[in-house]
Amino acid sequence: MTEYIQCFACGAKSLNIDGEVHKYMLSSPGCWVMFTEVLAREYSDLTYWKGHQFTVDAYACQHVRKKEDRRALNSVNIHLVSLYCIFELGLGQEEAPKLRAKFSQFHKGKNSLEWLERV
Ligand SMILES: [Zn+2]
Repeated sequence: MTEYIQCFACGAKSLNIDGEVHKYMLSSPGCWVMFTEVLAREYSDLTYWKGHQFTVDAYACQHVRKKEDRRALNSVNIHLVSLYCIFELGLGQEEAPKLRAKFSQFHKGKNSLEWLERV
């Protein structure tokens, strides 16, 4: 058995293991494990906390399940808006969770978000 494989969603080298993944983000189990390890480090050491918003937004955007899954469609839109506001509009990272919550609440139940094709 190969020890490492490439995550089919993001291309990262990850452990070739069986296991659980997120409910509506699609990844190899090894990539999911790496993501949760990064989150654990961010939560346990404030040195790493300042990158937390980027970690969450980037991982969510790179591990999108099928567009027919409304949760996946909403998730990628929310995380892309968050990245856009941080990088293009200068939103502080500490404001990103509030922005995502408001964006999500505004669009809740409306089915107003659309699938964004990769270019
Ligand atoms: Zn991945």
